[in-house]
Amino acid sequence: MALTEFGLIERFFKQQRVQRSDVDLGIGDDAALVTVPAGQQLVVAIDTLVAGVHFPVDTSPAHIGYKSLAVNLSDLAAMGAEPAWATLALTLPESNADWLAAFAAGFFELAERYQLQLIGGDTCRGPLTVSVQIAGLVPTGQALMRSKANIGDLIFVTGQIGDAGIGLKLRLDLDRGHPARKIENAAYFIERLEKPQPRIDAGLALRGLATAAIDVSDGLAADLGHILEASGVGAVINLEQLPVATELKKNGDAWWQMAISAGDDYELCFTASADQRQEVEQAMQRIGCPCACIGQIESKPGLRLHLAGRDQKLAVTGYQHFGS
Ligand code: ADP
Ligand code: MG
Repeated sequence: MALTEFGLIERFFKQQRVQRSDVDLGIGDDAALVTVPAGQQLVVAIDTLVAGVHFPVDTSPAHIGYKSLAVNLSDLAAMGAEPAWATLALTLPESNADWLAAFAAGFFELAERYQLQLIGGDTCRGPLTVSVQIAGLVPTGQALMRSKANIGDLIFVTGQIGDAGIGLKLRLDLDRGHPARKIENAAYFIERLEKPQPRIDAGLALRGLATAAIDVSDGLAADLGHILEASGVGAVINLEQLPVATELKKNGDAWWQMAISAGDDYELCFTASADQRQEVEQAMQRIGCPCACIGQIESKPGLRLHLAGRDQKLAVTGYQHFGS
């Protein structure tokens, strides 16, 4: 049954388990009111997902709801921020109650995990597009930025990279009606694509430890490239140290090409002083977050790739400017 705009907001978005004491006025007025505690900075980010561009059109609504918040949480993680509030702009072709219930379930699953409250939004009719604006808090001066990497810093990455790229290949096969590729753990890789786990805990643990950070959304080479550019430095990556699935290494020599160019992993790439290596590794161990040291910041601009002591070139067109 079709619902009116106000009916669907009331039914699917106003009722929520998270009720933060710093929300002075939530959904229902022309705008929301929140209180930012003294000594904290407000950290704000927004990300839009467009059907057919950022996710296959037949992705389940629960996964769209989940991922629209996950990609935003990942941006806060990369800043070392603690999530607090979000607003949601939904453009829908029709007001389908089943679709909305599933979308809201996916969205609020993550919101509850991080004590994040939805405090407002906008709803209109049109091609399926989801924009989430997220806001969080960081003690003044402690945010992690792209621009603070120093020459000699070590480069780290959390988790495993390239997983979502494998998931996308599997997902596209399924969408085209091809039999699933023969790969072990297919469900794991698809889950990594559709339900990324934002590294909020890692971002918080890295305050005061990491010099620069970014989340890996467009592929490690491109995203590390942003740190290098913003910091005015270069880097070397030792490809044998990349944390990748064993399934990826079965792909022949090009395994690392995919690992550093596939997007959507939502891991963190960060730099830290070489003196702090132990502290970084202990902090990551404490929160149960896998973390690998993959290279080092250098003064010479650009990104250099080493494998077994030899220089390698990134083949993917569009990324050549990171090569040596
Ligand atoms: P206005 O016309 O003043 O912009 P709306 O009629 O768009 O207000 O929205 C009414 C209330 O519902 C506002 O508080 C708005 O933030 C909230 N809202 C609208 N759409 C959503 C949504 N998709 N999710 C959460 N809150 C929403
Ligand atoms: Mg409005």
